[in-house]
Amino acid sequence: MNTLAEAPHKEPSEKEILTGLQEKVSASRLSLFLQCRLKFFFRYVLRLKKPKTPSLHVGNSVHSVLKTWNKARWLQKPLTLKQAHNAYIEAWSDTSEGMPVWEAGEEDAEKTTGWRLVETYLRESHVPADLKPDAVEVPVEADLVNHGLPRLIGILDLVQRRQIIDYKTSATTPNPEKVAHTTEIQTTGYAILYRHNTGQKESGMALHHLVKLKNPKVVITTMPPMTRHQENRLFRQMEAYVTGLQHEQFVPSPGMHCSSCEFFNECRRH
Ligand code: SF4
Repeated sequence: MNTLAEAPHKEPSEKEILTGLQEKVSASRLSLFLQCRLKFFFRYVLRLKKPKTPSLHVGNSVHSVLKTWNKARWLQKPLTLKQAHNAYIEAWSDTSEGMPVWEAGEEDAEKTTGWRLVETYLRESHVPADLKPDAVEVPVEADLVNHGLPRLIGILDLVQRRQIIDYKTSATTPNPEKVAHTTEIQTTGYAILYRHNTGQKESGMALHHLVKLKNPKVVITTMPPMTRHQENRLFRQMEAYVTGLQHEQFVPSPGMHCSSCEFFNECRRH
């Protein structure tokens, strides 16, 4: 007799996947849908798997050690630099989300680059080690059914003195005005999530970019609290998402972003 533990895992049908995607959405999913619906289809509907890229692995490892560092601050037991380094080494060897295929000598160079980013960030004290955060790495959601929209979900990297902080790694120095525009879906989404879950208005938002230059640097872009106009824009974008999924409008949007698309070959054959 089959026990529950032995029950075979049933893959969801495409229809079930589409239904689930219409019920809840994260900012990154919404951004991808608005950037290219066909890429969204390959990643979230067909669920095509691709190898992890080296830059994603560096970004994940850096993100992981900053999460550990902030959690230790929240517990008011700040990490030493050595403990932070150990956390980085552990994160680097985590293969649960796959390991990139490295060129000869590439892994050591990238590993060093990632650690230098973390070390620069901690040394420059962009967030004081002894200041207790409001929240670290919290999964949150907002039920937007009153607006006829799906549930919005997300994870807040760090909230400090009601400021929502998000970490990013980047190969180039960000331009503050452009980055405020290109990350607007994400920052607006975070503000909605924060307000829904705390009943308070955020004091503002900040993007902490750790830039992978020969001499690593940290660029902080601060933004004021979300405006009503930004909230409306996001709601209209979510409406377009729902309509697009209902009508299965998975059309390609060729452009500059195709140069980094992991589904380029699938797209050409589609
Ligand atoms: S190659 Fe360009 S158009 Fe095709 S799926 Fe990727 S992003 Fe979309």
